[in-house]
Amino acid sequence: MQKGNINVQTENIFPIIKKFLYSDHEIFLRELVSNAVDATQKRITLGKLGEVNAVEGNTSIEVIRDEEHKTLTIRDRGIGMTEEEVNKYINQIAFSGATEFLDKYKGEEAKTAIIGHFGLGFYSAFMVAKHVDIISWSQRDGAEPVKWSCDGSPEYTIEKAEKKERGTDIILHIADDSEEFLTDDRVQGILNKYCKFMPVEIIHGTKTEMVDDPSDEKDEDGNVKKTEKTSPRVVNESKPLWTKAPADLEDEDYKKFYQDLYPMNFEDPLFHIHLNVDFPFNLTGILYFPQLKKEMELRRDKIHLYSNQVFITDNVENIVPDFLTLLHGVIDSPDIPLNVSRSYLQEDANVKKISGHISKKVSDKLNTMFKKDRETFASQWDDLRIFVEYGILTDQKFMDRAKKFMLFKDTEGACHTYEEMIAVVGETQKDKNGKIILPYTADAKAQHSFVSAAKERGYQVLVMEGPLASHMVQKLEEAYPDVQFKRVDSDVVDNLIETDDATTSTLDEKQEEALKPIIEGAFPGEAYKVKFTAMSPTAAPLTITRSEFMRRMKEQQAVGGGGGFQMFGAMPDNYDVTVNSNHPIVQKILSEKDESVKQKVAKRAGDLARLSQGLLEGEELTAFIADGYGELS
Ligand code: ADP
Repeated sequence: MQKGNINVQTENIFPIIKKFLYSDHEIFLRELVSNAVDATQKRITLGKLGEVNAVEGNTSIEVIRDEEHKTLTIRDRGIGMTEEEVNKYINQIAFSGATEFLDKYKGEEAKTAIIGHFGLGFYSAFMVAKHVDIISWSQRDGAEPVKWSCDGSPEYTIEKAEKKERGTDIILHIADDSEEFLTDDRVQGILNKYCKFMPVEIIHGTKTEMVDDPSDEKDEDGNVKKTEKTSPRVVNESKPLWTKAPADLEDEDYKKFYQDLYPMNFEDPLFHIHLNVDFPFNLTGILYFPQLKKEMELRRDKIHLYSNQVFITDNVENIVPDFLTLLHGVIDSPDIPLNVSRSYLQEDANVKKISGHISKKVSDKLNTMFKKDRETFASQWDDLRIFVEYGILTDQKFMDRAKKFMLFKDTEGACHTYEEMIAVVGETQKDKNGKIILPYTADAKAQHSFVSAAKERGYQVLVMEGPLASHMVQKLEEAYPDVQFKRVDSDVVDNLIETDDATTSTLDEKQEEALKPIIEGAFPGEAYKVKFTAMSPTAAPLTITRSEFMRRMKEQQAVGGGGGFQMFGAMPDNYDVTVNSNHPIVQKILSEKDESVKQKVAKRAGDLARLSQGLLEGEELTAFIADGYGELS
């Protein structure tokens, strides 16, 4: 037996590593199994080249739990290591890497940097083991089996060993505080998380199922007899769908894979994109568009990031464009640096390219769908809209591409492209300054009276719903300077599209001046500003609206990103009260001699106007209703 000292400065660095990595202990298994995968693949490659024995028979990796002896063994039939190789790769390289690693990540930052760190490698075994043995038999001609042992101090031993098969056993003598890693559930869970799609077959224990009895005997009911069959439990799918050629796959295959990825999701995805790039970076994967409907589902852990079929993380922030984190699926790229901090990732040239590429693929796909089958595309618009809007708001390049397929839905449910829409309303909805006004509603039910007034005028009313609506209209106005969006309740219908031909007013300036304080008195406080507009006598006497500008600011502030307005605290609600100077009730208020009747009529009209906007609340609402009943009795 030979003894040696691992070349590290710190007396005992294992406890330190262990402490640092506390939150992420389970990755030791990913590291060891991926080493086993590498060793197996190396063997296959070198076998083909004739450098080692060609591969015959089994190459699977086994994860063997021995609860009695408290060991966990990772066995591969890979390339193996000779004594010199153990010396070189384990004693020198693996451990020097670890010291370097520690030096680099000293201090508090270490924890965050380490989480998600990849390539910690063999060394991570000491997070859960008090003692590790490597028994390895190299595939090279004339090699002898060798055993390396280390108890977590910088000392190790190396000696000759017995081994039945070529390859490597990594034997972990599990530490007392880590016995969870001896249980079937825990180990199977970790394998499922990290190793589910690794490229070499991985076996963990056995599974038992009922199968048809080979004797073909029947039971009393004439059914073939069943019998228990125990077979190795295979953990992984070594050729996952994304590694295959799209031309060889059917829609059904993609749907099935989606079910495998998200067993809890019962709805089929709308469609998928199969990514396959090998230049200038490597990227494969499948992205799914889920059915989102109108809710903005903000769960962002649905895209899984792999590196050469090894699961890395489900936090792809800064790797895919933000708006695409709403998608589901898998991306696999060995070109994404995994051992750097997240903020650094954003600046990485490869990541930028990958992100740009994905964004382009998604817009291309949407465009193809739009061109190929517009009807289906339009029917899915409510789901797609969220992605598209989010993309438009956050990714200028996406915005430019989206112009081709972005749809505007009107209150009748019809969808139009921008060009189509302008071809219809370009002339009829122009205001006196030549702007094309596009009235829209954020809630057709709540804004019903405004919507129907606008429609009666012959205006096309668009539906712009959701928390992003006011950001969206702003963005669209920047992109299309000829148009201006106005929410239907931002002004009375007569003023929505300002033209030169105004209805003549039956009130003169003096009369308006006399009326103003009376109307003002019918509303509480400063929030209501009274103005006059001559409208048709059949339009409402008083209408409450909120200016487009003020409302947008407030909404944007609520969602975040409303310019500098946050600094001044929440903005107050402000309303415009438009008095229809041609309405008989308005005339009545003016001509009424009895001051108290005058005020009462004004108040009642004001209350009704507020009631229609849901602005009459509490005590005032109770009084209003009591008055109403009082008049009936
Ligand atoms: P990395 O895998 O990042 O190179 P590790 O610390 O995991 O770092 O492993 C160091 C080296 O030890 C590997 O590069 C490989 O040469 C060797 N090694 C580790 N595990 C095995 C194994 N199961 N079979 C053969 N060689 C191995």
